Amino acid sequence: MFRKSALALLSAGLLGAGLLAALAQDAPRFGSWGVDLAAMDKSVRPGDNFSDYVSGTWQRNAVLPPDRSRIGGFTDLQILSEKRLRAIIDELRTRPAAQLNVDERKLRDFYDSWMDTAAIEADGLKPLQKDLDQIAALTTPAQVAALMASPRISAGSLYGYGIGVDDKHPDSYSLNLSQAGLGLPDRDYYLSDNPELVKTREAYRKYLADMMTLGGLSDAPARADRVMALETEIAKVQWARADRRDADKIYNPMLVADLKALAPDFPWDAFLKETGIPLTTPGGARYVIVAEKTAFEPLARVFAATPVSTWRDYLIVHYLHSMSSYLPQRFDDLDFAMFGTVLSGRTQQLDRATRGVHLLDGQMGEALGKVYVARYFPPEAKAKADALVSNLLKAYAADIQTLDWMSPATKAKALEKVRQFTPKIGYPTQWRDYTALKIVPGDLVGNVQRAGLFEYDREVARINKPVDRTEWGMTPSTINAYYNPSFNEIVFPAAILQPPFFDPKADDAVNYGAIGAVIGHEISHGFDDQGSKYDGKGVFQDWWTKEDRANFDKRTAMLVTQYDAFEPLPGLHVIGKNTLGENIADNAGLAIALKAYHLSLNGKPAPVIDGYTGDQRFFLGFGQVWRSKMRDSAIRTLTLSNEHTVDMFRPIGATRNLDAWYDAFQVTPDQKYYLPPDQRVHLW
Ligand SMILES: [Zn+2]
Repeated sequence: MFRKSALALLSAGLLGAGLLAALAQDAPRFGSWGVDLAAMDKSVRPGDNFSDYVSGTWQRNAVLPPDRSRIGGFTDLQILSEKRLRAIIDELRTRPAAQLNVDERKLRDFYDSWMDTAAIEADGLKPLQKDLDQIAALTTPAQVAALMASPRISAGSLYGYGIGVDDKHPDSYSLNLSQAGLGLPDRDYYLSDNPELVKTREAYRKYLADMMTLGGLSDAPARADRVMALETEIAKVQWARADRRDADKIYNPMLVADLKALAPDFPWDAFLKETGIPLTTPGGARYVIVAEKTAFEPLARVFAATPVSTWRDYLIVHYLHSMSSYLPQRFDDLDFAMFGTVLSGRTQQLDRATRGVHLLDGQMGEALGKVYVARYFPPEAKAKADALVSNLLKAYAADIQTLDWMSPATKAKALEKVRQFTPKIGYPTQWRDYTALKIVPGDLVGNVQRAGLFEYDREVARINKPVDRTEWGMTPSTINAYYNPSFNEIVFPAAILQPPFFDPKADDAVNYGAIGAVIGHEISHGFDDQGSKYDGKGVFQDWWTKEDRANFDKRTAMLVTQYDAFEPLPGLHVIGKNTLGENIADNAGLAIALKAYHLSLNGKPAPVIDGYTGDQRFFLGFGQVWRSKMRDSAIRTLTLSNEHTVDMFRPIGATRNLDAWYDAFQVTPDQKYYLPPDQRVHLW
């Protein structure tokens, strides 16, 4: 199954003044050797709060703009990417049409259809009317199930599906099925007694009613109550997040006949037919891979017990939600009030041009990315990043040989896996071909739907073909990175290879603490609690001895306990089980990056700069990447529904397990996040 472990969940931030100008200069972007010393708060002892020590002054002075839910290292760069993509699009719009190539014309026409708010207002619901009529005309459960599977109308469904790479046979694609159906970020939002979540679901109930009213439905509050009751029933039978990330639990291949027997109350034939995915393979009948197996039957029961009229309301309101950005202002505002304000704390929508950039990045990202790379990603940056990745992999290999808790047999396999990593840096070697995508001037809804179908058809067309390993899951302008276990690959888009992550003009120690720890993080995903279940060829199979696995689990269980104790808001704790993979990657990535930094010194002592030792600068570089200021509702949503620990605890959680950090900053037992040596988790 194609699953990616990314570095971060992104939202957006504030661009430091003059960042573009600074990038073109000779000095490092931050301070005189890579770290913004003015951001530090030296009145905080490093062991009391390492995030505040590194960034406390910045944190106090940073202002969250109303249209962002967080600001900091990631989001500054995100805004830079937005500005650059916008400059590319603005330039396309000023050039005569005859000078645009086919992709450029599509980008321009798509963007113009997004910017034409007068036409969007004038059209009202007309562009969706045919689809809404189709939903309103549903009379049988089989018709409802077919609509849920529609690749064109994204109106919500009890079951999600997608084409991925088969975990056990990474040379083939598979049809994967999973639980779905909720409008709020997680089942807890429907079931918990936490007053904040109770408030959020009341806001959602009102949102459902208001959206139905806007959509022209009568008696909306009563309909909203029924949809809310339906989603609550769905939430009750869904799997919890921690189980959903367990590769062993979610790999359940079965024939369609077995699927029907597993959940007989759902009209699978109608659903699967609508997907258009061939149910045969060159080898015979297709196996489908079911994720949350024991939820499938009760979900089907919820399906059968719900009147078609309630399903119609559910599908209409979810469809309006998914298309609200492309509808008149009143739909867009209503949707933002729920998903932008209640769930993320933003009080103002991003400006329309920036949202247009996001739209194109999402729908035609490789056409835009190609131009981005040509302008903003010099070949030298790729060469330098290649070298860093190779150093990190060497450090990993060296480290594995020294482990006292792993047997020689497992070590040999781990080393083989390190050798088989594929790094992808900057941008894809093969760009997506958008020839088959039709973009029509002035038809925003049609363009969005055709772009969605273009991608869908591309995936369906290749399901029985050999797996394409050249593909990328992120666009070049994305500030993020990921590990894909099925390909055993680590992927770094061009835009993350910039300060504060990577600055060729900065001190080496800072770069190793920043991009080095990011690279180490992604490599570590190949050895985290789930990634370690895949071998070097990307096959999901156990290559560990029982004893080694038990040793590993004992160590990672300690990390779960450590992170459970973090409390980003009063009463709100990090969920150690949900975030374990990411926390392992943070801890292991930092340890490996430090090792790589030490190796890079070739036995010479590190220089002292401005009174800071090499190791101190390394940890400051790491802390600086994660400086961040977030809105409370964004902290809550991230903590409850994301696999990443909230930003402020990432430097704290990783450093406190490293002995070298205690030495670097003389952290003593009286400091808040001090861990006695026997409680520090050393994985790699
Ligand atoms: Zn990660």
